[in-house]
Amino acid sequence: MWKVAMSEEVGKAIQSVAERVKQAASRRQKSLPSVAPRLVAVSKTKPPEMVVEAYRHGQRNFGENYVNELVDKASDPLILESCPDIKWHFIGHLQKNNVNKLLGVPNLFLVETVDSVKLADKVNSSWERIRGANATQKLRIMVQVNTSGEQSKHGLPPEETVSTVKHIVSRCSALHFSGLMTIGRYGYDLSLGPNPDFQMLLSRRQELCESLKLPVEEVELSMGMSTDFEHAIEVGSTNVRVGSIIFGNREYPNSAANTPTPSPEKTSKVRGKFQMDNVEELSSEFNTDLSGVRSEAATASLQTLHRKDIMTERTRSQIQAVEMSFLRRVAGRSLRDRVRSSVTREELGVEPLLLHVERGQLRWLGHLYRMPPGRLPGEVFRACPTGRRPRGRPRTRWRDYVSRLSWERLGIPPEELEEVCMDREVWASLLRLLPPRPDPG
Ligand SMILES: *Cc1c(COP(=O)(O)O)cnc(C)c1O
Repeated sequence: MWKVAMSEEVGKAIQSVAERVKQAASRRQKSLPSVAPRLVAVSKTKPPEMVVEAYRHGQRNFGENYVNELVDKASDPLILESCPDIKWHFIGHLQKNNVNKLLGVPNLFLVETVDSVKLADKVNSSWERIRGANATQKLRIMVQVNTSGEQSKHGLPPEETVSTVKHIVSRCSALHFSGLMTIGRYGYDLSLGPNPDFQMLLSRRQELCESLKLPVEEVELSMGMSTDFEHAIEVGSTNVRVGSIIFGNREYPNSAANTPTPSPEKTSKVRGKFQMDNVEELSSEFNTDLSGVRSEAATASLQTLHRKDIMTERTRSQIQAVEMSFLRRVAGRSLRDRVRSSVTREELGVEPLLLHVERGQLRWLGHLYRMPPGRLPGEVFRACPTGRRPRGRPRTRWRDYVSRLSWERLGIPPEELEEVCMDREVWASLLRLLPPRPDPG
């Protein structure tokens, strides 16, 4: 089956690209810092199994460009279990309202796309809060520069590089400034000479190191992708982000052969773990009955899992991961905000589905979300006394109500709910993935 084919292909590709990276490094001009380049395997749109396969072949650094996809993949039980030393890079555009979610990602190694002082401040303060008292580690970040000046590209205008890095180095004590990153123009013809985007990044580094007295070897350059990573390394890249030649071309939903290929910007909105046929159409009609699509994907995967007669440890942790991913999406936002914010809808991808979730359920999830970090769902579950009922609901015991919801919505039978709730360790690690509560302002 595809798994066998995939395993061989991904493994071979990883080995061949890693070898090419090494070769390119040996051709690097001697005047450049001899930092061994890091290969980041860009796994966006690809399933966790492929990440695991690449990991088995020695790959450790992986990149994703959507926060939700990264959250899902990094907390996928298969990856948590099989890839303990994985290093995740965030390489996509980062919005302030997604920072907390991103920083909760397990094994987050490097955020490559900080592109303003404001964003740096936000990342800094969030990391200060998240790492708490028990960790002193700084968060590695890079500053993304828009070297090609294209409107469609994110990143700082090049002339703001020095002032932004200066701010980060002097004011953001929770951050470790690791270097500069650029995407650059697509499809540059190398027969015309060195890629000007890469040259621009090099000269900004030079300027930066001179004015801030930073050693050049300590300021990395993230540049180069599938089509040009060797050239990028030859001219000084220390971090290449390579996707399609490792994992194969990316397929986006709705890009059937008979429709024109949509732009990446557009397709990006309809991706994600819980893909539905047409999220955009649905979101324009979310007042209509969505019961047919309601948590289709989540329910389906849970039901598949529950069909097995014996619930293994692994199955259980899969169920919990699905639930947690669900909780993360719902928690922390008011229903009204979610209905109103198109940004939220697009960011979350699965929003229309959640609009259907009832208030009562949100309350319960909110309760779970707000409980102190040490408390676990099992305790909350048992601590909920009888008699409180969500508006519009018959007066039943809270516990029965939650049980029924979990059965109806998540396909978990009541007796198992209790069992799952009491699984302290598994829940504890998953709970840490929840983003901190958003500031009310
Ligand atoms: C997708 C992506 C890559 C990898 O692109 P390939 O051409 O598939 O190697 C690199 N960097 C960023 C920022 C990306 O979004």
